[in-house]
Amino acid sequence: MSSPDRILIVEDEQHLAEGLRFNLEAEGYQVRAVETGEAALELLIPETPDAAHPAFDLVVLDVMLPVKDGFTVVSEMRQAGQFVPTLMLTARGRPEDVLDGFAAGADDYLPKPFELSILIARIRGLLRRKQWLRATPPAAGNAKPSAKDSFAFGEKSIHFDLLEVRAGGKVYPLTLMEASILRFLIDHEGKAVSRKSMLQEVWGLREDTDTRAIDNFIVRLRRYVEDDPAHPRHLVTVRGIGYRFVAAPGA
Ligand code: CA
Repeated sequence: MSSPDRILIVEDEQHLAEGLRFNLEAEGYQVRAVETGEAALELLIPETPDAAHPAFDLVVLDVMLPVKDGFTVVSEMRQAGQFVPTLMLTARGRPEDVLDGFAAGADDYLPKPFELSILIARIRGLLRRKQWLRATPPAAGNAKPSAKDSFAFGEKSIHFDLLEVRAGGKVYPLTLMEASILRFLIDHEGKAVSRKSMLQEVWGLREDTDTRAIDNFIVRLRRYVEDDPAHPRHLVTVRGIGYRFVAAPGA
């Protein structure tokens, strides 16, 4: 049997953290819980990588934490090159939390209070997406042959197995969510993909979710894949619908 996935919970409300730990352990995960962002960063960004601190497979990160909030924590993680899938717990009724979370580099979010079954489904989804990016093409019958582990276009390449874009001699790390969106667009190369279908099929969100989150992602992705992000040729806007990925513009 393979070793269990390791989950780090960052939550200052002790009874909630303990409840989560109990239930996630019952699901077969190995769980560690800490109460502050600082403690989480020490585990996730050790000064010297250490066998005593095996890597986590996923982080459940509360937004409302003392001193250093969840947005700051995920942003510092990403800046330090720590790209572990991260699910943020946000306050209900604050769509701006969702956008801020994605902008800071979160991979998914769940508003509090949440049903435990929903949290577990989201965790499974993120862990599965990690596998999906690394291995198999999607089952969708009408999708083009999948990009599999990497996809090259022009002088650039996207490495889904490593979660990075290589372009112009630089390497840009991707979050799981960024890689998932790129993968989805590339699987539908040349076709207009709606924001709604990205929200539903990539993130598993309902269609009434604020679609600006998608636009924020595209702005970031253009910095990696476009020579001139202000005049995109690969990640093209399709007015009134969404976006289209073009591998060879002008071909
Ligand atoms: Ca809290």
